Amino acid sequence: MKKYPNRQIHMDFHTSPDIPHIGELFNSDEFGETLKTARVQLINLFGKCHHGYYYYPSKIGKQHPNLNFNLLQKQIDACRKQNIEFTVYTCVGWNEYWANAHAEWLEVSPEGVLGSKRPFEREYYRWNKLCLNNEPYRKLLKAEFKEMYEYFKPKGLWIDIILQNECVCKSCTQKMKEIGLDPQNKQDRQRMSRIAQIDFEKDIFEYLHELDANLHVYFNGYSYAMDLQDEIAISNKQKQQYNTFMDIESLPSDEWGYTHFPISVNYANKYDKEITMMNGKFHTSWGDFGSLRNKSALEYECFRALAYGAGVCVGDQLHPSGKIDKTVYARIGEVFKTIEEKEPWCLDTTKIAQIGVYGTTKSSDNITSAVDRAAEGAYRVLQELKYQFDFLDLEDSIERYALLILPDKVTLTPKAAAKIDNYVKNGGAVLVTGVSGIGENKQFLLETIGIEYVGQAAYCPRYIHIEEELFGNVPAMDYVTYKPGVCIRGKENVEILAYTVNPYFNRSEEHFCSHRHTPPRTEVSQEPAIVKYGKTIYVSSPLFTDFAENGVKAYKDLLAEMISILVEKPLVKADLPALSEVIIRGNNNKDKSKIVHILNYIIQRKCQILDTIEDVIPLYNRKLEIRCDNEPSHVRIVPEMKTLDFIYEENYVKFVVPELQGHTMIEILEND
Ligand SMILES: [Zn+2]
Repeated sequence: MKKYPNRQIHMDFHTSPDIPHIGELFNSDEFGETLKTARVQLINLFGKCHHGYYYYPSKIGKQHPNLNFNLLQKQIDACRKQNIEFTVYTCVGWNEYWANAHAEWLEVSPEGVLGSKRPFEREYYRWNKLCLNNEPYRKLLKAEFKEMYEYFKPKGLWIDIILQNECVCKSCTQKMKEIGLDPQNKQDRQRMSRIAQIDFEKDIFEYLHELDANLHVYFNGYSYAMDLQDEIAISNKQKQQYNTFMDIESLPSDEWGYTHFPISVNYANKYDKEITMMNGKFHTSWGDFGSLRNKSALEYECFRALAYGAGVCVGDQLHPSGKIDKTVYARIGEVFKTIEEKEPWCLDTTKIAQIGVYGTTKSSDNITSAVDRAAEGAYRVLQELKYQFDFLDLEDSIERYALLILPDKVTLTPKAAAKIDNYVKNGGAVLVTGVSGIGENKQFLLETIGIEYVGQAAYCPRYIHIEEELFGNVPAMDYVTYKPGVCIRGKENVEILAYTVNPYFNRSEEHFCSHRHTPPRTEVSQEPAIVKYGKTIYVSSPLFTDFAENGVKAYKDLLAEMISILVEKPLVKADLPALSEVIIRGNNNKDKSKIVHILNYIIQRKCQILDTIEDVIPLYNRKLEIRCDNEPSHVRIVPEMKTLDFIYEENYVKFVVPELQGHTMIEILEND
């Protein structure tokens, strides 16, 4: 059962000491009533900001120099009056005040840069970085957290910037030596960074739960982020146990983009951990004063969160004067009102997935908000084809999936390879592309895919020779693949569905042809491009990465045919364009009830710097077929309660949706 409030605000308040009269226009009634009218259930209020100032009279540090009253207390009182819950925000990794006062607490980069920030660098998001491994700093933070807890008794603490760069400060070098890591080795420094984050969260979480076992604790430090758990001890997954819930910070117009949230949530939402999607009211991102997110964009991001079983937290920044912006909350309120109406079909639901897709990030890789292209390609292909899928790490159970996909560069351990081989031997299907599953011995660890690794392809780009009618309606042609592939050899009884075609030569100063890459030779090579072996298919080019980078529709069409060979009965068949998204969830409150979410928004690059959404173009009379084990008793659009006619044939419930605006939910209740 979902316990965490669904409609939240994160109210940033990073405020320069050079701005006067902080909070002078704060009006308690206006603040509380504006939030209440916007149907806000929980707000994250600022105890301390990145500039390093407190917004109450702290005994630990310095209240903002131009604030002359307890702003946080007044905000809390205003919220309590309106029955709005609150958490208190504080930050760890960035604190300009303490950075200036305590140079010994700062990170030291391997190049010797203090605070991991060069002098005079002041582009967006550049703050001096304090080190998580510094014990005196950590001790002070514990005192601060205790003070905030005892002073305000919040529902929780929201603790920001649990990040750690490659740090070679005295604390870090000493700790590295103690655990056998070499500070001069980059990989060891990255390992220390992971260890520091997990250790910090464990230490603080246990400390806070000694104070109050019911206190909600969230560390903003990628606890939701997918890595393969190929090294369990340093995996992001370790952090999940130290977070009461997971807030997926993902502002689509900034570094995260529109694919970050769905990839993250499709990994995280299969676990028993509550999730919130955090976007923002900003046109671009945090700190974009004087901007308002397009209503359609805000709707899409929030409704997509509901479809994936997440709550919503919209980021805002309060003006230094303390005056809440009614225009902003009118817009948020419009969306929150609709969310409130949809909630009965969203709050207690479980993901339904048919395909498992392995992630591509190793536990020792740097953690960033950047989306890996192979995972992005898999997401785009499956979402556009309306398949229901989870992203997986190597420790996830796999028996429930009809198909596993290893996109382009999945690192397997021998144990994970054996698990997948066993899954295939028991009737499971696998689609493998690129160098996925190649072990340290330069051979495929998976025995069930029927191929041997020969080496890296000699030519790039090269071509895939597609013959007429072999892949559905994909027309015959030698299709270029832009990314480097591999050469393989098929074992006995392998069915070769396509061969590669090499170009005459690689483009170089010595040999080049025309404006771009070299044309294909007139004969196919002896190197297979696509092979089928039992219920497995292997593709020797990284088609998912290529699709994410270059968007060639033929790649998606080829992959669609391969997936349709491996998955006999998809959960969804839909007469919908590629841009429409279909997500199915099971309603835990109603026996055998399914909620089908359809999102119909157009993500556009309308300007130089970002993708956004402005228009919703309705669709009419679209047919859907949803796989159901039993004949339904009703199919209806909710919350409007508009009943739809349907027929039930061969385990599919078939119906026509008369009109699709932005977000539509359809409830299917099966008979027992
Ligand atoms: Zn350090």
